[in-house]
Amino acid sequence: MTVVEAVQGDITAQQVDAIVNAANSSLLGGGGVDGAIHAAAGRELLEECRRLRAGAWPDGLPVGEAVATGAGRLPARWVIHTVGPNRHRGQTDQALLASCFTRSLDVAAQVGARSVAFPAVSAGVYGWDAAEVARVAVSAVGDWLGSSSGTLELVRFVLFGEDVCSAFAAELP
Ligand code: ADP
Repeated sequence: MTVVEAVQGDITAQQVDAIVNAANSSLLGGGGVDGAIHAAAGRELLEECRRLRAGAWPDGLPVGEAVATGAGRLPARWVIHTVGPNRHRGQTDQALLASCFTRSLDVAAQVGARSVAFPAVSAGVYGWDAAEVARVAVSAVGDWLGSSSGTLELVRFVLFGEDVCSAFAAELP
């Protein structure tokens, strides 16, 4: 059984195999959790992201897609970058948000991560309501786990604020 939990905290401090970054399409850093992850991971992470732009993703990472890099100085082994839909740009499709979570788990399984931490993708600058993100995220992760082969031991939602943490806790079984 995979443990799915919600905790209040800073995702950069998590002792898990992989942390998910709410990146933007450029993959070259930004504000919010993206800025915090790059600041804590150091230059190595930015270099790896630049290499992804020079190689696999020359036009940037599409919304709803995910890709893994190393994690620089972070305690985690991998950072999985995903791009959430931006409500301020009219990206209101829940399926795109769900895809951020399921594609991140696909990538986590591919690299062999057994524990994964997620932030509230799109609930910050990208303008989605935290309760809606919580609903979509918990449902997407549950669906993914239901059809997976079961190598993942832990999915932890790591939420900055008390309100967002409560919203996620309310969705968990
Ligand atoms: P987006 O652009 O996808 O909306 P943001 O980084 O602006 O992403 O916000 C996503 C969520 O991450 C917000 O709820 C924000 O409060 C939260 N957040 C910001 N920094 C951290 C952090 N260090 N650890 C965990 N969550 C964070």
